[in-house]
Amino acid sequence: MTSVDHSENTIVVATKNSGKVKEFAHALEKLGKRITSLYDYPQIADIVEDGDTFAANARIKAKTTGDILGVPVLADDSGLRVEALGGEPGVYSARYAGEGAADSDNNAKLLKELEQLGTTYSDDKLADGSLLLSKAQFVCALALYDPATGQFVEAEGTVDGLITDKPHGDGGFGYDPLFWLPQLGRGMAELTKDEKGAISHRGEALKVLLSKLENVNE
Ligand code: IMP
Repeated sequence: MTSVDHSENTIVVATKNSGKVKEFAHALEKLGKRITSLYDYPQIADIVEDGDTFAANARIKAKTTGDILGVPVLADDSGLRVEALGGEPGVYSARYAGEGAADSDNNAKLLKELEQLGTTYSDDKLADGSLLLSKAQFVCALALYDPATGQFVEAEGTVDGLITDKPHGDGGFGYDPLFWLPQLGRGMAELTKDEKGAISHRGEALKVLLSKLENVNE
């Protein structure tokens, strides 16, 4: 057990990704909730994410953490699927450039792989001359696990976009600077937290999860 306060307004999110922590804190604050993350539980060792799917990895993180802490836990497993790379980096998104890779390393590796392929998605260029290299999709799987019942509530969200050869914006995290949203004419890293939450894979998955929980509690 832990000494961290777990009032009913607290949601434990099983992540050590600071980008995810900020997005969940921002989204859930509007619902009157505060979050804790794995930064608050140093006693929990790194969790091995060896699932084949985002959903499987989300369940692993939620269950491992929930069983240790004895309280319900929300976990997010997410990543980027790039069409020209056959869906890579997928579940390996966080460690695409190697274990412990920084976002900048992963983005550099992504551009190198696409450059080696030498293909582009379209001959059109963005106003600043950036090339559009491939279709891509962000995916987010959420799992909420309750150790008292052993039950999961799960949800998934996606958002489609294009990979550009140059970064746009300095918001968000991960691959956001290379993810262009043609439907908005902006990059994911150019959006505010509210704008990203309204259209992102994580925002979508959270909406689905919350509506499932409302139905469960009715
Ligand atoms: P996870 O923590 O194992 O789920 O890995 C998630 C990885 O996917 C992150 O480290 C990022 O590289 C990428 N990713 C997930 N969600 C986002 C996002 O919203 N923007 C950019 N990259 C993301």
